[in-house]
Amino acid sequence: YMGAEALPRKNSHGIELSDPQAVGPLLEELAKQRGKHFLGGPIVNGVMGKAEEPVYNPANGEVIGHTANTDKHLIEQAYASAIEAQIGWDRLGGNERATILDRIADFYEKKANELAAIICLEAGRTLNDGISEVREAVDFCRYYANAARQHFSEPTELPGPTGEQNQLYLGGRGVFVAISPWNFPLAIFTGQVVAALAAGNTVLAKPAEQTPIIAAHAVRLMLDAGVPAKVLHLITGTGAAVGKLLIEDPRLGGVAFTGSTETARLINQQLAEKEGPIVPLIAETGGQNVMIVDSTALPEQVVDDVIQSAFLSAGQRCSALRILCVQDVIADNLLNMLKGACEELTLGDPGKLATDIGPVIDGKALNLLEAHRERMDKEGKPLFTFDKDKKPGKGTFFGPQVVEIEDFSVLKREVFGPFLHVVRFKAEELEDVIRRINATGYGLTFGLHSRIEGRADAVFKRVNVGNCYVNRDMVGAVVGVNPFGGQGLSGTGFKAGGPHYLFRFATEKTKTINT
Ligand code: GLU
Repeated sequence: YMGAEALPRKNSHGIELSDPQAVGPLLEELAKQRGKHFLGGPIVNGVMGKAEEPVYNPANGEVIGHTANTDKHLIEQAYASAIEAQIGWDRLGGNERATILDRIADFYEKKANELAAIICLEAGRTLNDGISEVREAVDFCRYYANAARQHFSEPTELPGPTGEQNQLYLGGRGVFVAISPWNFPLAIFTGQVVAALAAGNTVLAKPAEQTPIIAAHAVRLMLDAGVPAKVLHLITGTGAAVGKLLIEDPRLGGVAFTGSTETARLINQQLAEKEGPIVPLIAETGGQNVMIVDSTALPEQVVDDVIQSAFLSAGQRCSALRILCVQDVIADNLLNMLKGACEELTLGDPGKLATDIGPVIDGKALNLLEAHRERMDKEGKPLFTFDKDKKPGKGTFFGPQVVEIEDFSVLKREVFGPFLHVVRFKAEELEDVIRRINATGYGLTFGLHSRIEGRADAVFKRVNVGNCYVNRDMVGAVVGVNPFGGQGLSGTGFKAGGPHYLFRFATEKTKTINT
């Protein structure tokens, strides 16, 4: 085993939104981008194809540009180029590829304001989220660049009998299809693509159909930074229109997917049924994330961390808090404080600095949340409902909700939005709560607020999740610091932004020479 080690911590700094000197240019950039009409069509061999389908700004419903379902012939061309270019890209070696990845990071940093503005306009993310996302994308580039240098430059010499030389080589698997979601339309898109590239694969990248424009910007910057045009192609469109074509192709070497558990299953099924080689799937999917708060927790801090984890980014993170388990003796007090904090939240234009929560991604997402609220009004006990009068007129806005429920079993599936469910527990039921968490089958993030000595370790050992956060919020994993990803229904591992991630994109080859 390669024995990957932690890489030195070198994260991007981003922009401080409390600094007027940094914020001025960001707001100017947003104003400038607001007037534009963007093209987010496919990019195959460096050329953008036609783009005729509208792309909407979820904050106001306006058309901000156009995209397309990539047609079959273009996908064919992309595959043909990607196959042809793969050996050369692989042979280039980890060091050379790392230089290009570092340059992508530099280009992203130079364009940070523009990228954040486009994220805001296309995905409805707040400027704060947009900036964080650029930072994370930069971190992915530099982190995987370092990993490529570390593992993909020189073969590992292996011990062997006298007279024999043994070496282990890591290389790319071939053509990778990278399918990314709209909730981190730059960071996750970039993370998947650069990981696959770093390991020596060529890539067909399919962003979510809601966010092709930021993806097209990213691909342009990657090509400008030196990724050859035959090595990386952007395939825009819906899963139904292009996903199947991408997966079906016998030239496929691997799939990286982030999105819903259902879609991951569908891809897995398609992979299982196709002819040809057995193709690995790297999937990062949903969560049913729980935070346990016991009677020793600090209530003010809990409230801050709950707001951050459940409601910011409009709850549209797979890491977001969905079920808050509060020990009964502190529950009334804590929930009152939480209600007060919810009342302070501002829902609205994500381009305004004062906004806490922007829109949800589209009408379909909004309908699902509204249907869930209707069900919870009957099956649960609503604790906080956002004042309808405070809702901005246009756009797909959904205010934060808090509802008390009897048990986890009320939730059949992941509710992707600013919707918090509360369950009370008694001191002696802690073990049972952990059992119920594990019984959901998901295993992504988990939070614990407790000052009881030894409790964090004891709970950590028992709870089957990927990321466990104690006495803090449970979102915003930092590359190299909190490698991110889950288990069970939440994904396959290894973790994005962690020391083992690139191996999933690689193949191994040994060379034994009788000298
Ligand atoms: N990595 C993000 C976080 O830690 C979540 C990614 C996702 O939602 O897919 O909050």
